[in-house]
Amino acid sequence: MGPLTGLPAAEAARRLREEGPNSIPFAKRPGTLTIALEVLREPMLLLLCAASTLYLLIGDLTEALVLAASILVVIAISIGQRAKTERALEALRDLSSPRALVVRDGVQQRIAGAAVVRGDVLILADGDRVAADGRVLAASDLMVDESLLTGESLPVEKDAPGAAERAGRVFSGTLVVRGHGYAEVLATGARSELGRIGRMLGEIAPEKTSLEVETGRVVRLVAAFAVGLSALVAVCYAVTRGGWVEGVLAGLTLAMAILPEEFPVVLTVFLALGAWRIARRDVLTRRMPAIEMLGAATVLCVDKTGTLTENRMAVKEVFAGDKREVLAYAALASELAPFDPMENAILAAASLAAPEAVEWRQAWRLDRDYSLSPAFLAVCHAWRDAEGRAVVAVKGAPEAVIAACRLGPAEAEALLSEARRGAERGVRILGVARAQWSRADWPADPRDFPFRWLGFVALADPLRPTVPAAVAECRRAGIRVVMITGDHGGTALAIAREAGIRTEGGLLTGAELDSLPEAELAQAVRGVDVFARVLPQQKLRLVVALKAAGEVVAMTGDGVNDAPALRAAHIGVAMGGRGTDVAREAASLVLLRDEFGAIVDTVRLGRRIYDNLRNAMGYLLAVHVPIAGISFLPLVFGGPIVLYPVHVVFLEFVIDPACSVVFEAESGESEAMQRPPRDPHEPLFSRSMLAASLGLGAAALLAVVLVYGWALLAGRSEGELRALSFAAVVIGNLALILAHRSRSRPIFATLARPNPVLWWMMLAALAALGLAIYVPPMAAVFRFAPLGAAEIGIAFAAGLAGALCSEGWKWYTAGSRGARTG
Ligand code: ADP
Ligand code: MG
Repeated sequence: MGPLTGLPAAEAARRLREEGPNSIPFAKRPGTLTIALEVLREPMLLLLCAASTLYLLIGDLTEALVLAASILVVIAISIGQRAKTERALEALRDLSSPRALVVRDGVQQRIAGAAVVRGDVLILADGDRVAADGRVLAASDLMVDESLLTGESLPVEKDAPGAAERAGRVFSGTLVVRGHGYAEVLATGARSELGRIGRMLGEIAPEKTSLEVETGRVVRLVAAFAVGLSALVAVCYAVTRGGWVEGVLAGLTLAMAILPEEFPVVLTVFLALGAWRIARRDVLTRRMPAIEMLGAATVLCVDKTGTLTENRMAVKEVFAGDKREVLAYAALASELAPFDPMENAILAAASLAAPEAVEWRQAWRLDRDYSLSPAFLAVCHAWRDAEGRAVVAVKGAPEAVIAACRLGPAEAEALLSEARRGAERGVRILGVARAQWSRADWPADPRDFPFRWLGFVALADPLRPTVPAAVAECRRAGIRVVMITGDHGGTALAIAREAGIRTEGGLLTGAELDSLPEAELAQAVRGVDVFARVLPQQKLRLVVALKAAGEVVAMTGDGVNDAPALRAAHIGVAMGGRGTDVAREAASLVLLRDEFGAIVDTVRLGRRIYDNLRNAMGYLLAVHVPIAGISFLPLVFGGPIVLYPVHVVFLEFVIDPACSVVFEAESGESEAMQRPPRDPHEPLFSRSMLAASLGLGAAALLAVVLVYGWALLAGRSEGELRALSFAAVVIGNLALILAHRSRSRPIFATLARPNPVLWWMMLAALAALGLAIYVPPMAAVFRFAPLGAAEIGIAFAAGLAGALCSEGWKWYTAGSRGARTG
């Protein structure tokens, strides 16, 4: 078969325009009406509707209208928020769609699966999903799993033209499990078999996270409490003050004030926007729980080649042999159309030093291709030259090639130590050998060729420049970086040293991973950070051992054989650029940019998201204490009522954006990477978090109660008393927001941290408070009387008192934390 040129780019673009993208329409995204109906079922809105109706019943038209108007605002905000979340998830789905390798204008290129058009030449390789339906043009040992379409679990062999109907075709969405080949696209998108069934692949799994479960529990608990207390208040009110309608209204007000409907909203918003933020750093979240796990990761297991290094190989030198001969045979032992940067580097070097090899590769016939196998880490090619004579070339791991040459022990040992010395310089060393063969058939095992030693090739693959800094950052954050490589131990240690990965623990090999008993292995992996000569399938044992040692493991991978380890790790990370679809589907995160820095970025974001979520939840808990208290206490003790439904609505308009937008935008990343990972078993609503937040809330309540009591004793009018207490609640609320921006850092230290939304919201809240107190028609709705400067001062002092308590608390916990760790 001649070289394939594929479609010209212009023609592909035209077809894409005319025939549409190669994608299957998604399950319909909820329309505005569906969202609106869902929003209407939220308890807050039901309560508002009930309250508004009751006001109508007692003939208070203004109050009823104000509440009705606020219902509209709440609906608008909720829909906006939902739409934002949906959009974030939608963007993620687009990114998660598969990618395809095609030939266009004679060059291979990776394009989005959706951009594949009819007539494209697809390159099929093991581990990838077929991007569209097509006709097989060429196949070598091609096996495809079509269970998705047929339910048949055994892979089907595919063959080039002339083959039976089904064997000559490949179908969109099916999985190449072995071999490789080319196919010409016949049908895309909805016209493919898969499209006709209308099934969707690789969608983001809406798994329930442990945070959701935990939040659900807290919400049910608080809700039960809120309902009970509200009923009690309604009855008390009716009995002590008379009037059932007013009693029910008081109960509804309290329920509105303390029903925890924000908690699940905050969770969804934080996770969805978190996934979106992570996507902006070119990392795709496939499973939501990964986001909360990330901040807890204690070990990052990363591949050396391509992740820590550039995967931009170059031949550095040739030694222990004749340069020309070594490069010529190394080139003969490279693939015809190589993907591997290492093989491309060898070909580039050979075309300069041994140009005849490049001609041979074109003129001769590659008769037998022995690919890399775990048993023999080398690639061996058996050629027939122009006269039909056999020429056999091999290149691969020095141990493997030297063993295959069957040298005397002294000579073999001398070569091996030369390879070791080379590897210590951080380069990859390959051994090269050749063989003659006169029999007509080829042996089954390449090691049966009588190889003659030729020499070594040394290839350099430079470390990515950002890696040392990123490794150092991980160390400061209490995260171990573990290097895994198929390369020689010497090379691995040299690169690890350069990257700043701990090498004092020495290294373990894949063979040792396999042979050590489980208990010993779990012990051994505690101290070792470099793993060499590891086969992908051995990574699984490493993950299991690390987990047994109590670590939270993130693991990278790209190949088909990496999938079990990716699935077993707490956080499986697939390398999207060169990763196979199998690896992507097994992983919970996919890196679109294959480099270590992206992983560290994601960990940093993961910690930030978790911190912000915890702070928002803490704030929510805290802020409900003064609100519940000040609506409840006057009823019990018979004082004037402070909070009516309008007041609660006012407060909700501050609390909602605060907990979802303001806290979500907090960028406490730098400080998040200066402490050890959190304990994954510690719940979000931990005892210390509950104590801190409820304690702060209680302090804020106390301040408000003192203000209320003072106004009462000083004989202020009811309007003044209410305005004063409400101002104290609002300002205390704002102080609680500031106090919850950071769990450990004092407020003044966080003031400089940019968060424009925060300041706009503060300003808006204070302005609204001013309007409510000083603009007569509004003051009438809120039942306020204007306050003097002294009273405003008192309200501020009360609010700030709550914040001061928080500083005391942080100082105290920082002290005890310091005492524990120091
Ligand atoms: P890494 O973890 O660095 O990607 P691999 O698992 O790809 O390492 O490769 C492991 C070893 O197998 C290499 O050190 C090399 O000795 C050998 N090897 C890999 N690819 C080839 C190849 N294309 N030709 C010959 N030998 C290879
Ligand atoms: Mg590799």
